[in-house]
Amino acid sequence: MADLTTSTEAGAVLRDQAAVVGPPAAQRPTVVIVGAGFGGLRAARALRGAPVDVVMLDRHNYHLFQPLLYQVATAGLEPEQIAKPVRAILRRQRNFEFRMVEVTGLDPAARRLTTAEGPVAYDHLILAVGGETNYFGLENIPRHGFGLKDVPEAIRIRNHVLRQFERAMLEPNAERRRALLTFVVVGGGPTGVEMAGALSELIRLVLVKDYPRLNLKDVRVLLLEATDRLLAPMPPRLRQAAAETLGRKHVEVRFGATVADYDGARVLLKGDEVIPARTLIWAAGAKAVSLTARLGLPTSRQGRVPVEPTLRVPEHPEIYVIGDAAYLEADGEPLPMMAPVALQMADTAVTNIRRSLTGAPPVAFRYRDPGSLATIGRNAAVAYIRGIGFTGFPAWVVWLVVHIIQLIGFRNKLFVLLNWAWDYFFFERAARLITTMD
Ligand SMILES: Cc1cc2nc3c(=O)[nH]c(=O)nc-3n(C[C@H](O)[C@H](O)[C@H](O)COP(=O)(O)OP(=O)(O)OC[C@H]3O[C@@H](n4cnc5c(N)ncnc54)[C@H](O)[C@@H]3O)c2cc1C
Repeated sequence: MADLTTSTEAGAVLRDQAAVVGPPAAQRPTVVIVGAGFGGLRAARALRGAPVDVVMLDRHNYHLFQPLLYQVATAGLEPEQIAKPVRAILRRQRNFEFRMVEVTGLDPAARRLTTAEGPVAYDHLILAVGGETNYFGLENIPRHGFGLKDVPEAIRIRNHVLRQFERAMLEPNAERRRALLTFVVVGGGPTGVEMAGALSELIRLVLVKDYPRLNLKDVRVLLLEATDRLLAPMPPRLRQAAAETLGRKHVEVRFGATVADYDGARVLLKGDEVIPARTLIWAAGAKAVSLTARLGLPTSRQGRVPVEPTLRVPEHPEIYVIGDAAYLEADGEPLPMMAPVALQMADTAVTNIRRSLTGAPPVAFRYRDPGSLATIGRNAAVAYIRGIGFTGFPAWVVWLVVHIIQLIGFRNKLFVLLNWAWDYFFFERAARLITTMD
C-alpha cells in the first residue's frame, strides 16, 4: 500500500506550500488531524498560517452540524443544509490538505496512523474522532430501533416515520394501526427532548393535513427517561418547564421508564410493562467511537482516551485527543460530550502545538461553560446561560440565533433560515419524501 504522506500528490502539495509560508515544506512538521467534526475543523482553521503542513483525515468528505440532525430526521431540513464538504470549507487555506480515509489504527512509536488506504505519518497528531451512540449492550435496539448520530440514520428515521403513516392508512386493524402510530423516543437529554418535540409537531401540525382521515387519538409520542428528570444539568425550574412544554405539545413524558428490550414491535420496560410501537428512537447515550479501543492507548469511561490537562496523551507529548473522544475531568466531573468542549479543546491543542514549535511549555485546558439550550418545538425552548435560566419565546429566539451563527457556510445559514421561516408561517415541512424502501 502507498504511504500517503510521501505520495506524489502529497509531495506536489507540500512543494506548492513551501513558497507560501515559513521554511521549506520538507523542513516543516506535519500536523495530522483525524476528524472533520467540531474539534478537528476548529483545529485546522486555527493552524492557518502556522509553519506546519496540516493533513486532515475523515471517513466522510463533509463536516456535519450534528445539533440539527433531529430536524433532518423530522423532515424539517435536508442533510446538505447542515453539512458542508471539508474541501469547500478550507479550500483557501494554503497549508491544508484533506484526505477521505477511514483510520483503523495507530503506531505511536513509529508516529504513523494506519488507514484503509495505507499509513499516514505525522509529527504532531490531533485525534478529534468524536463519539457514537451508546446502546449499553442492548443488542436488539440498534437492530430494530434507530440511533441518531449521522446523516444516513437521520434519513432512515425520516423515511421510517413517514412510512408508518402510509401503512397506518392501509391498516384496518385498530390495534395494529395504533402500534404503527406510536413513536417512542428514549432518553431525556437535549437530543431526546428536541426529537420528541419536533416529532409531535411534525405529526400534529403538518402530517395531519396530509392525512385528513388520520385519527389523532391513534397517535402517541412517548419520551421515556430512566431517571426522574429531563435535561439533567439544568436547574429544576427549567427541567420542570421542559416537561410541561412537552406535555402541552402532546408528548407523553414517562420518568423511571428503563427500556430493557425491543423487537421492532414491542418495547419492553424494566418491570415487564410492554408498549406496542413500531418506532423506537434511541437518544439515551453516547460514547467515544470504537476506534479509540484500537489505538493502543488507554481508555476510560465511555471508551474515551484519558488526556493530561494539556490535552496530550501521557507518554506521547506529540498526540493530542480532543472533543468527545477525550476524557478529562473538571471539578471532579468528566467534561460533557458537547460541541463547546470540542471547540475549546481544539484551541488549546493548537496553542500547545504552536508553543512546542518555539520550545515554550504547554498550557493547561480550562473549560468555560457557555451554557446550554434545548428547543421544544416552535416558540418553546429552555436556556441556561451564565447562571441565568429562561424559557419560552425568548429562549427559542436565542436558540435560533445561536444555531444559525454556528452553522458553517452562508448558503446553509440562508437556506436553513428560509426553511424555518416557511415552516413557521405555513406549518409545512419541506423534506417529506420517502426516499427508500424498507
Ligand atoms: C443528534 C445530536 C445532537 C447534538 N446536539 C448538541 C447540541 O445541541 N449542543 C452541543 O453542544 N452538542 C450537541 N451534540 C454533541 C456534539 O455534536 C459533539 O459533542 C461534537 O460533535 C463533538 O465534536 P468532536 O470534534 O469531538 O467530534 P465530531 O463532531 O463527532 O467529529 C468526529 C469526526 O471524526 C470522524 N471519524 C470518526 N472516526 C473516524 C475514523 N475511524 N476515520 C476517519 N474519520 C473518523 C467522523 O466522521 C467525524 O467527522 C449533539 C450530538 C448529536 C449526535
